[in-house]
Amino acid sequence: MISPYSLLPTSYSLLPTSYSLLPTSYSLLHCDLHTHTSYSRDCLVSPERFLEVCRRRGLDRVAVTDHNTIAGALRLKEMDPERIIVGQEIRTTRGELIAYFLTEPIPPDLPPQEAIAAVRAQGGVVGISHPLDRARREAMGRADVEALLAEVDFLEGFNARCLSPADNVAVLALARAHNLPVTAGSDAHSLWELGRAGVRMPPFDSPASFLESLRSAQIWGKISPVWVHAVSTLAKILRRLGR
Ligand SMILES: [Zn+2]
Repeated sequence: MISPYSLLPTSYSLLPTSYSLLPTSYSLLHCDLHTHTSYSRDCLVSPERFLEVCRRRGLDRVAVTDHNTIAGALRLKEMDPERIIVGQEIRTTRGELIAYFLTEPIPPDLPPQEAIAAVRAQGGVVGISHPLDRARREAMGRADVEALLAEVDFLEGFNARCLSPADNVAVLALARAHNLPVTAGSDAHSLWELGRAGVRMPPFDSPASFLESLRSAQIWGKISPVWVHAVSTLAKILRRLGR
């Protein structure tokens, strides 16, 4: 005799495990727009583990923005073309920029105007990452950010690795005053941080429609605890030791 229990699903794997399988209100995409993989020298996360966790956390779109390279992003794009946006965090002579929809890497240490032109030449979009983060050497700071406001497509309005919430809030005010859209992201350098911040935004299918959707994006996220910075410092040390 068949027990009625045998007719019930016994495994959780039959249940939707990812938020992306659940109907999201207004079909908004859940996006983390600033992440790193082991292709950054201060991160040890393999592309395989990265993708596994992005899927599990229901991130519909993830911008992979390694420091000065797109190699990891291109590899991930091959593994999951729809979910991955090929990006780069670009070191310039005045601090860091962040770009999306790249096909070629942007060389580091160009003046920001030249890096911006190089992104545009290949059809990408470009903004400033953690623009006003006072605790970060790589941040541009107010004078340089203000000088570039007319040239960039967006500002990063929420970065989960900003130690001071006020530094994110200041960016939002600046973006509003200059009618620029804002992005948000975890700036994850560890699996634990993936999806800690991002935006919910209407679907997009091109760099132009991405910028358009960004104008109605809602930011979500939490500032990460201070210890996450120790994770990337440790990664750098392990790399130096030849791990
Ligand atoms: Zn970053």
